[in-house]
Amino acid sequence: MSARATPDEIQAALVAIGGVAPALESLVETAAALRGLTADNPPAGGYVGVRPALNGTISVYVNRQFADVALEPERARSVALQRGWKLLRSNSVTGRVRVPAAVLTSPETIELVTKLVLEAIDKSLDGPRYEGGTAGSHSEERSYEVCPVHNEEMLGGVCEKCE
Ligand SMILES: [Zn+2]
Repeated sequence: MSARATPDEIQAALVAIGGVAPALESLVETAAALRGLTADNPPAGGYVGVRPALNGTISVYVNRQFADVALEPERARSVALQRGWKLLRSNSVTGRVRVPAAVLTSPETIELVTKLVLEAIDKSLDGPRYEGGTAGSHSEERSYEVCPVHNEEMLGGVCEKCE
C-alpha cells in the first residue's frame, strides 16, 4: 500500500487521459491531502475535472501538460498578468488561469499554485451544485482566451488592443 493522498478515481482518470506531467500529479496529490477531492472516471473531454468530493463545480481542469485553475475572475486576471500565464473565460463566475507544468519548478511557484488550487476548491464549494461530467457541464466547455491586460476576448489568440 502506498500512502498516496490522491483518491483512486482521480489517479485512474489521470492515467486514462494518457498520464500527466509529474509536477501536475504532485500538485493534485498535495491538494487531495488538504481537501476531500474527486473526479469523474472515465474523464470526459481530454482533461480530468478535479472537484470537491462533497459538492461543487470543477475547480481544476488537469490536462497532460497544463492545469486550468478556476478562480474569481479578477483574481485569475491579476495572476495571469503577474505571471504571464494565459487567461481563459467560460462563464461570468470564473476566470481560468492556465498554469503550464513547466513553470512548476521553484518552491515559490509551487506554493503559489497550490494556494490557487485551494482557492479554486473553496470557490467550488460555495458555487452551484455539480451536475455531471457530460450534459450538465456542457456550458463549462465553451472557454475562450482573454487578454489579461484589456480583459477582452482574444480572437485567434491575439488581442487587437495590444497590437
Ligand atoms: Zn490586450
